[in-house]
Amino acid sequence: MVNENLINKLATLSESAKYDVSCSSSGVTRKSKSGDIGSASGWGICHSYTEDGRCVSLLKVLLTNYCIYDCAYCINRKSNDIKRAAFSVKELVNLTLEFYKRNYIEGLFLSSGIIKNPDHTMERMVRVIKELRTIHRYNGYIHMKSIPGASKELVYQAGLYADRLSVNIEIPSEKNLKYLAPEKDHASVFTPMKYIQNGVTEYKEERKKSKSVSKFTPAGQSTQMIIGATNETDQDILRVSSVLYLQSSMRRVYYSGFIPVNPGDTRLPAIRQAPLVRENRLYQADWLMRFYQFSSEEILDDVNPNLDLEIDPKLSWALRHPEYFPVDINICDYHLLLRVPGIGVKSAKLILASRRFGLLDTYQLKKIGVSMKRAKFFMVCRDYRGLNVNSSSPEYIRSLLVKKTPRSVASNQMSLLFSE
Ligand code: SF4
Repeated sequence: MVNENLINKLATLSESAKYDVSCSSSGVTRKSKSGDIGSASGWGICHSYTEDGRCVSLLKVLLTNYCIYDCAYCINRKSNDIKRAAFSVKELVNLTLEFYKRNYIEGLFLSSGIIKNPDHTMERMVRVIKELRTIHRYNGYIHMKSIPGASKELVYQAGLYADRLSVNIEIPSEKNLKYLAPEKDHASVFTPMKYIQNGVTEYKEERKKSKSVSKFTPAGQSTQMIIGATNETDQDILRVSSVLYLQSSMRRVYYSGFIPVNPGDTRLPAIRQAPLVRENRLYQADWLMRFYQFSSEEILDDVNPNLDLEIDPKLSWALRHPEYFPVDINICDYHLLLRVPGIGVKSAKLILASRRFGLLDTYQLKKIGVSMKRAKFFMVCRDYRGLNVNSSSPEYIRSLLVKKTPRSVASNQMSLLFSE
């Protein structure tokens, strides 16, 4: 049974964990086996434990919210006078198992403040997931944060028991990271990331020789950047992401709109709300890099270093490049199909498959899932050659497509007041 003391710790430590968005249980499918406890589903969603005890998918919790570091953007920094708590390894193992057996959760997202030093903390975290896997034969999903500065040995051990590991960059540029988190630098983040990548590669090679070799972080790694706490442009942020995605094990970069949890800190911008529209646009741009064959340099450049908050990045790119349009849906290649606003990856593939049987018209394109409201300004097909971005002007097409958003929302996103 879970006692009241443990529930109190859980309330404190799940509350302290809620600002980390870099957890998602997607990517792993594992059926339950005889003698084991649990399974992991491939399409998983990430929820954290809520105070009212609602059934959650992932227990998102810290081992402890004590921390020897003093990161300006963090609620758990050492200079904050907040309620502190720490689980013992045994307590957290038992709690996870209890919740799992009761069907409250499908997995565990484990993070921690730093106690004593990175390795001391990491060693305790590894003990939690190792005990779950080896002693209790827990087969559910585990996402563990790797502590910045942790040693290779501990990262390698964690990789044997966690489905996914993540090391958060937090602040995109090293200069600003050191300004807000003096105890951290980019090396302490990128080095464990490299260990994870190397572990994935090495274990993959070993598994080619013997299937009995364990998988190493089968769901890869992820990271998180805080958006809007510092003055990096979206171009800076996407450049960092594009470099990270060069590592095959990097599955997701999460963009977390800055939440002013320490409003008295003058190093931080005075904003009233997290920049959610900007965050959303960054996710869209990230999607373009991962699935639409866009490079970060195409999405943004020195003339346009920030994403347009009024329109999505793909439409923004198309309006800046009318010379590519209109494309003929019936002859253009896959790469160009993907660039047409209103055509997604699935529709582009269906268009390629369908046009082997004849020329496509607007009726068929709608059936395939193309959003003609947007696509019609950038394409021609068998029965459509209407107004387009080239025969008209990008400004006029933009005025037809842009959604009327209340100015107050958009302007709040942009008016960051940096104290420097
Ligand atoms: S190291 Fe992590 S927990 Fe500690 S203050 Fe920094 S962000 Fe917060």
